[in-house]
Amino acid sequence: MITMILMGPPGAGKGTQAKRLVNKYDIPHISTGDMFREAIKERSELGILAKRYIDDGHLVPDDVTNAIVRERLAKDDCQHGYLLDGFPRTIPQAMALEGITKEINRPVQFVINIDADEKELIRRISGRRVCKVCSTPYHIDTMKPKVENVCDVCGGPLIQRADDNEEALRVRLGHYYEQTRPLLDFYKKSGLLHSFDGTQDLNVLLKQIMSLVEENE
Ligand code: ADP
Ligand code: ADP
Ligand code: ZN
Repeated sequence: MITMILMGPPGAGKGTQAKRLVNKYDIPHISTGDMFREAIKERSELGILAKRYIDDGHLVPDDVTNAIVRERLAKDDCQHGYLLDGFPRTIPQAMALEGITKEINRPVQFVINIDADEKELIRRISGRRVCKVCSTPYHIDTMKPKVENVCDVCGGPLIQRADDNEEALRVRLGHYYEQTRPLLDFYKKSGLLHSFDGTQDLNVLLKQIMSLVEENE
């Protein structure tokens, strides 16, 4: 069983690593951002609410976010582990997660923090394209798909996220520094935190994360 959290600022490479790690370890990829974007596509009540926050770069309220994660982690496919991508992002979310993982009896084993400098984050977010179908991330200059605008994994079209503009990114970075970064101390104290340089080549980084997991499994 492998249970892990991927943390880091917007653009650090969480989604990129998540896609590869869940393949290797055969665990579900639980991205709260993807879940909200799915809900927005479906125009569900959750989607309508979440869109108001996401488009401007604000965080969706904790009670709403905690509820969707609680429901998701209770599903059968999480029995043999899970990878949380982009959750928790606030101290109240981390507290809620402690409760949820106790309920399901599958505590978090690894908190993987991926970081990059602000200049690189802006470069990555402004050139990011994502698959409309499976949400795999690409970059217009440095992580191009084999065929222009077509997803390598599923053949879906690539799009730019509504919140991947410089204005919303500023707001997202503000929330990251104020609300998410304090979580690093929280997880450092519990001995779960492992930090990695996200500006490295993606395969080098993937190997580092996998070595950590395999050494401690
Ligand atoms: P990024 O790839 O930039 O880190 P995500 O796809 O993880 O972004 O999240 C996109 C947006 O969805 C966030 O800016 C926020 O509005 C919302 N969101 C995602 N996860 C959370 C969370 N744990 N708490 C609150 N809002 C969230
Ligand atoms: P996050 O989920 O943390 O917001 P993504 O995984 O979506 O980040 O990556 C953000 C952007 O940076 C994407 O355009 C992606 O192609 C690119 N990217 C991710 N990892 C790397 C890397 N190690 N080197 C160069 N570009 C990367
Ligand atoms: Zn795809």
